Amino acid sequence: QSHQAVFEAGVAGPDLESQLRARGFTLGHFPQSFEYSTLGGWIATRSSGQQSLGYGRIERLFAGGRMETPSGILELPPFPASAAGPDLREAVLGSEGRFGILTEAVVRVTPLPRTEEFHSLFFPDFEQGGEAARRMLWSGIPLSMLRLSTAQETETTLGLAGHEFLIGALERFLSVRGVAKHKCMLLFVVSGGEQIVKTARKEALAIASGCGGVSVGKTFGREWNRTRFRTPYLRNTLWEAGYAVDTLETAISWSAIPGIIREIERALGEALAEAGEEVHFFTHLSHLYPWGSSLYTTYLFRLAEDPEENLHRWRRLKDGASRAIIAQGGTISHQHGVGVDHAPYLPAEKGPLGMAVLGDLCRRFDPSGIMNPGKLAG
Ligand SMILES: Cc1cc2nc3c(=O)[nH]c(=O)nc-3n(C[C@H](O)[C@H](O)[C@H](O)COP(=O)(O)OP(=O)(O)OC[C@H]3O[C@@H](n4cnc5c(N)ncnc54)[C@H](O)[C@@H]3O)c2cc1C
Repeated sequence: QSHQAVFEAGVAGPDLESQLRARGFTLGHFPQSFEYSTLGGWIATRSSGQQSLGYGRIERLFAGGRMETPSGILELPPFPASAAGPDLREAVLGSEGRFGILTEAVVRVTPLPRTEEFHSLFFPDFEQGGEAARRMLWSGIPLSMLRLSTAQETETTLGLAGHEFLIGALERFLSVRGVAKHKCMLLFVVSGGEQIVKTARKEALAIASGCGGVSVGKTFGREWNRTRFRTPYLRNTLWEAGYAVDTLETAISWSAIPGIIREIERALGEALAEAGEEVHFFTHLSHLYPWGSSLYTTYLFRLAEDPEENLHRWRRLKDGASRAIIAQGGTISHQHGVGVDHAPYLPAEKGPLGMAVLGDLCRRFDPSGIMNPGKLAG
């Protein structure tokens, strides 16, 4: 009746979903790491599922629970809403195990959608795709996902799709409609009852068409859905072929999106120039909000024979891109968290007082410093 479910926090994504689905519900939280990540991990890292536009990030889904800390147990009752001072769930979300261990969580669940459609469209360029995405968001159409690839990512995606004949036919079809060299792919998902889905689809397609978008139906979207958790496995295959791949992400206001993409990609492109190595990179907007978006960049570089050199290359890339993110005013992480890799860049975002407060919280919950030391706030 309350659309809430209680889980032990160590439950993995597939187990959690199958238990909910058996009762006609879903959490709707599908990070790409869904198969192996846990509810406690999602909360402790402020994770964002691929359909966060419809279901919300984990912050919205986490209603309450229990965190066991060296200083005692923190109980968080699952109120629908509360004005009783600062919300202590915020101290648990993103705490990355520094304050204690979340052992139980109450989550807000949604009845399983009766129908779900995955549509793809192509735009003449990133600007027009971005304009369409913003108009869809501002119009309040109930979409559960929007994802816009840059021209470079679109080209890479089509190149990796296989099916040369079909992709060739698609390119010719788009080209006749003025969508050619700089084309960008946009994927949108509508979930819900038949009537809602029908209306949302119609409105989204009309907005897209007004911005130069060309719909190519549901085939690409269905394929994306079928393989949505598989892409990370490519990392091992690429490694065996002599290439390393990593991803990075941030979020920023809409007006700053073009600049931050340019600067992140510039930093990646220059990071290994001294060694004469090229880097392949591509970006998409993955979690869109009316006021801004997260962006997600994938980068590949060639492996050297010496593992130390590989680490050095990765560090140069990571540091260059992270500095670009900070300089442009983006957050050091929209969804992956801080851990060790992002800790050096956190003070630029939180400021001296913010870092001191985080340090105080660590000491209050964990006076002996035994909980995941070195992560998050050093
Ligand atoms: C291939 C790949 C794809 C990914 N895709 C996404 C994505 O689409 N969206 C996204 O948001 N993230 C993504 N991530 C990042 C990550 O998987 C998620 O952020 C996820 O939430 C981590 O959960 P986990 O259970 O794996 O936690 P772990 O990686 O095991 O732990 C992460 C941190 O949380 C702490 N922690 C874990 N459980 C608890 C608990 N019960 N109580 C207190 N602290 C705890 C750990 O100490 C650690 O500091 C991806 C990662 C990979 C490797």
